[in-house]
Amino acid sequence: MKTRDRLRIAMQKSGRLTEPALELLTRCGLTFRQSRDKLFCFGEGEPVDLLLVRDDDIPGLIAQGVCDLGIVGRNVLSEFQLTAGRELAPLSELRPLGFGRCRLSIAVPQELDYQLPQHLEGRRIATTYPGLLGEWLRTHGVNAGVVTLAGSVEIAPKLGTADAICDLVQSGGTLVANQLRETDVLLESEAVLAGPLTLPVDERGDMLELLMKRLDGVIQVRESRLLLLQTSRTTLEAVTRLLPGGPQPTLLAVAGQPDQLMLQALCAGEVSWRQLEEIKKAGAREMYVLPVEKMLA
Ligand code: ATP
Ligand code: ZN
Repeated sequence: MKTRDRLRIAMQKSGRLTEPALELLTRCGLTFRQSRDKLFCFGEGEPVDLLLVRDDDIPGLIAQGVCDLGIVGRNVLSEFQLTAGRELAPLSELRPLGFGRCRLSIAVPQELDYQLPQHLEGRRIATTYPGLLGEWLRTHGVNAGVVTLAGSVEIAPKLGTADAICDLVQSGGTLVANQLRETDVLLESEAVLAGPLTLPVDERGDMLELLMKRLDGVIQVRESRLLLLQTSRTTLEAVTRLLPGGPQPTLLAVAGQPDQLMLQALCAGEVSWRQLEEIKKAGAREMYVLPVEKMLA
């Protein structure tokens, strides 16, 4: 493979993953010159460029070495891994990214008597994910016809081209609108950072490592809160016991009040009013919950 000194990331040109993916990269300190209606966006600060494509093309672009990384749904990546030819390089999921959540599910018409996967024996199932569906059917020892469609899978039962479907579900609204009932979840999906199994060893490798560190920081702080409070030394233990997760808190002295301490703790998730009220009852006061802007471990 030809060596390049700039990292190239493939992402969806226009769709559900576009805005959150761009926001994530921006939070990692990347900025791009080109307008978004172009295929290629040149990275300004860091040597990282973007290729804007259809999401289905992303795994192939990485496997062929056209791009180093991609932001794509786990559903698309897994399907590629199951169906791609052996001549292509294998890919891996480097990080889950926490957006674009959905699931790949089996759904059947409301009136169909269905309790077990075996009830699909001999039936036709419409899907855009023949690889994932085929694997699930094999696991359950079911022989069913797989009808591969490019889109509008949810109307296949009504059109009579299939008895059931295997499709992406988020809220379930589309299923209800088509008188379908979700029965089995094949895959829980979200956007992921995809890359080759073996990462590049040239200049791109260093940039990739840096980017992953920033990404981890961004993902971690998105959920993190900094909790600040005051407590007396006598109630410190009771207060500390109620702190929601995270590493050991930091304790600071309060000027002129030797029996008082200021406590600072990083919490892994949201801190609720109920939790704050409990901590206060245990003896804390002057409590603050702050969002975390950046983090570098
Ligand atoms: P493209 O033109 O890039 O091929 P698309 O129509 O295949 O676009 P979108 O509908 O934008 O793609 O979905 C992109 C990804 O968003 C999906 O592959 C999936 O990972 C995720 N996603 C989240 N919720 C849903 C949902 N309710 N339906 C479909 N995809 C969803
Ligand atoms: Zn697509």
